[in-house]
Amino acid sequence: MPLMKSWVTSANSDTTPFPLNNLPYGVFSIGDSDPRCGVAIGDMILDMAAVEEAGLIGIDEDDAFDLPFWNDVMELGPDVWATLRARLTELLAEGSADQALVEPHLVKLADVQLHMPLLVSEYTDFYAGRQHAANMGAILRGSPDLPANWLHIPIGYNGRASSVVVSGTDLHRPNGQTKAPDAKMPSFGPTKRLDIELEMGAIVGTPSKLGQPITVDEADKMIFGYVLLNDWSARDIQGWEYQPLGPFQGKAFGTSISPWIVTAAALEPFRAPTPAREKELLPYLNGTVDGLYDIELEVLMQPNGADRATALTKTNYNRMYYSAAEQLCHHAIGGCAMNAGDLLGSGTISGPDKSEYGSLVEVSWAGREPFTLDTGETRTFIEDGDTLTLRGAAIGDGYQIGFGDCTGTILPAVKHP
Ligand code: CA
Repeated sequence: MPLMKSWVTSANSDTTPFPLNNLPYGVFSIGDSDPRCGVAIGDMILDMAAVEEAGLIGIDEDDAFDLPFWNDVMELGPDVWATLRARLTELLAEGSADQALVEPHLVKLADVQLHMPLLVSEYTDFYAGRQHAANMGAILRGSPDLPANWLHIPIGYNGRASSVVVSGTDLHRPNGQTKAPDAKMPSFGPTKRLDIELEMGAIVGTPSKLGQPITVDEADKMIFGYVLLNDWSARDIQGWEYQPLGPFQGKAFGTSISPWIVTAAALEPFRAPTPAREKELLPYLNGTVDGLYDIELEVLMQPNGADRATALTKTNYNRMYYSAAEQLCHHAIGGCAMNAGDLLGSGTISGPDKSEYGSLVEVSWAGREPFTLDTGETRTFIEDGDTLTLRGAAIGDGYQIGFGDCTGTILPAVKHP
């Protein structure tokens, strides 16, 4: 599919993340106005509450956009999602009969504050990157062999929705309990091994019922859209606490997402298959759709005071072993009800080459191989004042489907007696 042209001329370049082909959903405010729904187009944002109030949208749900989240629109279901996207495309396309009516409801992106685009109902994080799992095995256990269940189960854990934050939110270095291998007793204090995890987040748009399993194909249709997701991780806290249960305080202090929900509809031309199965999956995990997407991803690090960021990693979401639809199917298979607004982290995305590793514990091989930034400074993990940024885009014919940056700066740990 080629670039679709808009009368918003800034949307017609091959460098904007937000051409007419994209139409991602966010939440914005101007000054001290109440946050409300908006759609990005070029360097502008369409005020959805205003354009709906003007009678230009016509979906049968009053005030679904005059809210600081997109959950009410999600709950209207896939038919309404498709109608809404078609109507927005019509309104913003080159030659639209409604240009003069829509134009007053556009605001410059540069003038707005962006907020969380959804109310996160619950947050689950998976572990679906084969190279990442092999790297972590090599680092932690001295062998790249996968855990015995890994090729059979999309492994995950239930995380915290309360600490999912929008890009641009600074986070304090977490305090916690750690134990050095040669120490007799654990100690308390700020993590010394603060890390990122490069992930995609899938957003569930339609609920499933308690006690009712879903198929992979049904799960695929339930996904409203995707965001970039940084699963900040305190490796030393995680390493001490996870035996025998999964991640807890090593992960619970913060998860950042990009401010725009890129819809599954916008990503449709970029579908990619999961790789050949190394072990045959149990039948319930087999679907008929290509559940991954060809999305180019990048991680950048910028120390406090540096005038530019250093690119650390470049990889692609199509590297994953399990798709979000397979993960969602597995999540519900025992009868767990899924909600509109549930967020599913993909797991760390790492490609086979070292330049494609999606976490610092892999890039620095658990601190044994420091890396050098463009400023000349070296790092193994994150230091106070460092800003970490995830970027992603699906690259089309003369256009790209961008996500907007997912960024966060690490502040010093809070003092605790
Ligand atoms: Ca993770």
